[in-house]
Amino acid sequence: FLTYLLSASMLAGYAQNKNTNPMIEKQVDQLVSKMTLEEKVGQMTQISVEALLKTTNGVVNEPHIIDPEKLATCIKKYKVGSILNIGGDAQTRENWQQLIRAIQKMALEERLKIPVLYGIDAIRGNNYTLNTVLFPQQIAQAASFNTSMIKKVSEISAYETRASFIPWTFSPVLDLGRQPVWPRIWETFGEDPFLAAELGKATVEGFQGDNQVTDKYHVAACLKHYMGYSMPLSGHDRTPAWIPERELREYFLPQFATAVKNGAKTVMVNSGEINGVPVHANKHILTEILKGELQFSGFAVSDWQDIQYLYQRHHVAKDNKEAVMIAINAGIDMSMVPTDYTFCEDLIALAKEGKVPMSRIDDAVKRILKVKYEVDLFNNPTGNAADYPEVNSLAHNKVNYDAASECITLLKNTNGILPLAVGKKILVCGPAANSMRVLNGGWSRNWQGTNSNETEKDKNTILEAIQKTFGAANVDYSEGATFTEATTISESVAKAEKSDVIVLCIGENSYTETPGNIGDLNISAPQIELAKALAATGKPIVFVLTEGRPRVISAIEPLSAAVLHTYLLGNEGGNVVADVLAGKINPSGKLPYTYPRTANSLHNYYHKHTETLKFDEWAGFNPQWEFGYGLSYTSFAYSNLKLSTDQLADNSKITVTVDVANTGKIAGKEAALLFVSDKVASITPEVKRLRAFDKVELQPGQSKTITFTIDKEQLSFINNDLKRVTEPGDFSLSIGGLTADFKYVSAIN
Ligand code: BGC
Repeated sequence: FLTYLLSASMLAGYAQNKNTNPMIEKQVDQLVSKMTLEEKVGQMTQISVEALLKTTNGVVNEPHIIDPEKLATCIKKYKVGSILNIGGDAQTRENWQQLIRAIQKMALEERLKIPVLYGIDAIRGNNYTLNTVLFPQQIAQAASFNTSMIKKVSEISAYETRASFIPWTFSPVLDLGRQPVWPRIWETFGEDPFLAAELGKATVEGFQGDNQVTDKYHVAACLKHYMGYSMPLSGHDRTPAWIPERELREYFLPQFATAVKNGAKTVMVNSGEINGVPVHANKHILTEILKGELQFSGFAVSDWQDIQYLYQRHHVAKDNKEAVMIAINAGIDMSMVPTDYTFCEDLIALAKEGKVPMSRIDDAVKRILKVKYEVDLFNNPTGNAADYPEVNSLAHNKVNYDAASECITLLKNTNGILPLAVGKKILVCGPAANSMRVLNGGWSRNWQGTNSNETEKDKNTILEAIQKTFGAANVDYSEGATFTEATTISESVAKAEKSDVIVLCIGENSYTETPGNIGDLNISAPQIELAKALAATGKPIVFVLTEGRPRVISAIEPLSAAVLHTYLLGNEGGNVVADVLAGKINPSGKLPYTYPRTANSLHNYYHKHTETLKFDEWAGFNPQWEFGYGLSYTSFAYSNLKLSTDQLADNSKITVTVDVANTGKIAGKEAALLFVSDKVASITPEVKRLRAFDKVELQPGQSKTITFTIDKEQLSFINNDLKRVTEPGDFSLSIGGLTADFKYVSAIN
């Protein structure tokens, strides 16, 4: 039947990559022509700074002091071109600057004077430097549905990272957060590919700036973890995923394609395997799709030790040398090897034996050097400490507060119990109440985020902020339980009896990657026990859920009067929770994932029609809360949904307008989400897909008209032949409860 293939136009779109500069290409070619094999392989190597630090009796005392002999082995002997940070604790900015200066000084003494590219996990802020802004984690940012805010957050993150003389961040995560057990959901922009693509684009723009990092205030982005990393069947990190190529292209690739098209300079590769092939060994995904179809002109870095894991963990290579051959030939350009130089030795030998072609090595080196030129490392290998007066400034912290205010999501508010009336006696309970560690989550001053209670002492926990906002005399506290044990439940109950309302702060403690694997998505038992004991007092309970993934709370949700979901809001999280409780902030976040009702019934909002069939109480699509759900203290009414035409032709657009009015008594922000449903398609259509969104601010009584456009590309999907197509036929769209039907009619056979 009538089908219009979009693949050619999509290819043309991908080709308009922002990263082409003939001057830089010439400089790169000239430099590469002077390089020895050893120098080339060095550029393809990335060593962990921990392997270079000075130790006394095997212990690192000062994490910024480099051991000159170790550095000489790295730079002079092996010609290493990149260094990364992982594992250690955050340091002062001055320490960072000293460390980077020492590294660059030695690199610039070398024959070709090629600066080292230092990379770091500066996730939502420069979290490895002390006294910098810790913004909401990506999953919280996604709940804001606010692209300009996310761009601003990323701009400040870039500025504060560059202030430590670091020009490259391993961010953003563009994996799709659709397996809620997986411990890295909080690092994603949630379950929707369109949302991830839009927010990923905003993040890349913020990090890299309008001039693509050529100035001293921006950093190169790294899209990760390319691709299909987020859906291990078991839910456990770095375990096998089974994702047919059609699904990869439909859900997992588009957000990478958008970011590549918008100039993202680097990509980090998925540590796991898909369909039995480790992605580090997958030439189709790394070379044919990424560098071919997407025309990615930056470089692909491996994830942590992932080349050696091809033999140590995945068993697709018999030794390190074979692993290096497979990975480099598949398309990896830079190897993240933490501590030893076997990679260099093996790759040199493989090149000499002709098992890795020189053309492949030259290609990888050119890509890496191109990025070094693009971030202006040759002119500005370190930076000037005086250029960054705004680090952790009041203005930056204000942006953080405003950002967190837009992320926090109100999921339940029975009888308008929130905001809390003045003068109420509040009891604050729960393991998340008095912890900056819980609010910040992982990648906070160290990998697992374990030390932010110490490093963020000057910030307010939820408890501290509630005490300040409501007056210490009105606020009592009893922990009740930790995440793993019931501690003071009877004390909490006794205090609850004397209070008017309970704020119960529950969720998860911080974790990152595999240490966050769980066997049960239900919220932990001691927290359930605490909630039940408190509920027995009959006092109303406000749940505050601070967690990196949607932990199932159906056992206790009916016991709550209100539910606030904070995700991992960062350093302003405490203040924002208190100000929402007090009514100073009107919440406007909406869920970026489907919140499951039970641990074994997991669906995405864009499920198929068969998933809506209900056979018993639990089966079918029956989540606790849907993607896009979020309440406000005011009310919004949608009206006048109009389509410029109900017949979409090939080269036209439909203009969709809708009026949104604030019908309540206070100002508020509303994210309008436009979903499209394809009525009949050759691949079973999803019930609906997000195709556009916008966020508006409205005063009481105010109304605004929001305009969206729909073209045939937004209606497209990947068909069984792996082609992006839009099939003619009937569609419907919905915004804020209003719906309209339209047709796509094609003249193309
Ligand atoms: C993670 C990456 C991270 C890298 C460097 C890996 O374990 O998967 O997300 O960027 O370490 O720290």
